[in-house]
Amino acid sequence: MPRPRVLVIGAGFAGVECLHRLERMLKPEEAELVVVSPHDYQLYLPLLPHVAAGVVTPQSVAVSLRRRLRRTRYVPGFALGVDTRRRQVTVRTVEGAEWEIGYDHLVLAAGSTTRLFDIPGVTEHALGMKTLAQAAYLRDHVIGQLNAAAVTNDPEERAERLCFVVVGGGYAGTETAASLELLTREAIRRFPHVDPALLSWHLVDIAPRLLPEIGERLGAAAMAVLRGRGLEFSLNTSVTRVTPRTVELTDGRTLRTRTLVWTAGVAASPLVHTVDTDLVRGRLATTAELTVPGADDVFAVGDAAAVPDLAKADGSITPPTAQHSQRQGKAVAFNVAARLRGTAMRPYFHRDLGLVVDLGGGYAVSRPLGVELSGLPGQAVARGYHLMALPTVTARTRVLVNWALNATTGSDFVSTGFQHGRPATLPDFEHTDVYRPA
Ligand SMILES: Cc1cc2nc3c(=O)[nH]c(=O)nc-3n(C[C@H](O)[C@H](O)[C@H](O)COP(=O)(O)OP(=O)(O)OC[C@H]3O[C@@H](n4cnc5c(N)ncnc54)[C@H](O)[C@@H]3O)c2cc1C
Repeated sequence: MPRPRVLVIGAGFAGVECLHRLERMLKPEEAELVVVSPHDYQLYLPLLPHVAAGVVTPQSVAVSLRRRLRRTRYVPGFALGVDTRRRQVTVRTVEGAEWEIGYDHLVLAAGSTTRLFDIPGVTEHALGMKTLAQAAYLRDHVIGQLNAAAVTNDPEERAERLCFVVVGGGYAGTETAASLELLTREAIRRFPHVDPALLSWHLVDIAPRLLPEIGERLGAAAMAVLRGRGLEFSLNTSVTRVTPRTVELTDGRTLRTRTLVWTAGVAASPLVHTVDTDLVRGRLATTAELTVPGADDVFAVGDAAAVPDLAKADGSITPPTAQHSQRQGKAVAFNVAARLRGTAMRPYFHRDLGLVVDLGGGYAVSRPLGVELSGLPGQAVARGYHLMALPTVTARTRVLVNWALNATTGSDFVSTGFQHGRPATLPDFEHTDVYRPA
């Protein structure tokens, strides 16, 4: 008898957690487990700013699928479209071949991509912070700007290269700006011919406050610390146009820069538009049991899904965080197993545990279970949280050793050049242009 096939799209927080649980819950004869994902690792995104800053190595935050999943078949590729009537998913392998893979139960966990808005020049000139390659590229790019600034005789060019702009004052943007600002501050000491006073970092956000996710008091504390380090803030401000050497702001100013980092939110994977069902705020609408209405053999979880937040009685959906995605992965595994066995499914319920924001330099703000912490205690909680949340003991050990090494021996500032000369736009790294129209 052929086994029913459970196909998971995406090997991130939600997809891998789901498969890890299914491997333990189901006997091998109960189901065949297959995952489609472009990379053979699960990326721990919350530490990407540490990768960009060189505090941890890229390998430390890329958890091998083959170590974590023992009997799941891994298909390296991108799901381009889902046909729920024929129960087929079109996949393009990393080599470029196209296949169709059938399923009996589908779990869509393809995550999200950087949200671009319709601002001229952003797609072509902004750099992102969503993939391992983007974090490594950004580090190279920033160090490359210091190298170039050190040799130019043109004061205008030097100022442009030493000006860095980050758009997005949520946790991703704030951590990125904070850790890269520290990197440039430290690195510039090794450039005796460059005046450190020329370095400038700008954080731009349309919202009136920094870090709205973590509360007003901690947001203000984080802003005060970053201001003390020299970061400039433009709140209540957005971007009207970007060129290779300028960022034009809605308040009329033009910042001359060669570096724009775009972290202004996320949008569900474009794959959701190929599924013939309703979207809520651009994400796949699901029931509390994580099924997609109208396609009972399809489940959706994580950043790609609009899951009702039962912990809040106001009809809202869960925010796109690793915390929810991982727990939705666990919940969906239970419900897939229930479907296979004909038993009752359970609704997803999780009360938010709070957020941690590491600003580097011994300072973090965190709010575990509603308790507000900042400074060193905040950082102890932030780092402890990451160590617990990393999925394997190997990954935890690697990160811990990296932190210890960085704290004792400091950083080196080399631009590896691996990506030099390659296209580096947001669609290049995030493959947002491969999908089939619905
Ligand atoms: C810089 C940064 C810092 C963050 N910090 C925190 C934090 O401190 N706390 C927190 O809770 N959250 C944090 N987040 C958010 C968190 O990382 C996401 O909410 C989480 O990764 C979403 O999990 P997911 O499983 O839905 O998607 P992901 O973990 O993004 O996984 C999606 C997977 O799908 C794959 N994929 C994408 N498209 C396709 C396709 N077409 N076909 C096949 N596979 C596909 C991807 O390669 C990936 O393997 C941070 C995010 C960023 C960018």
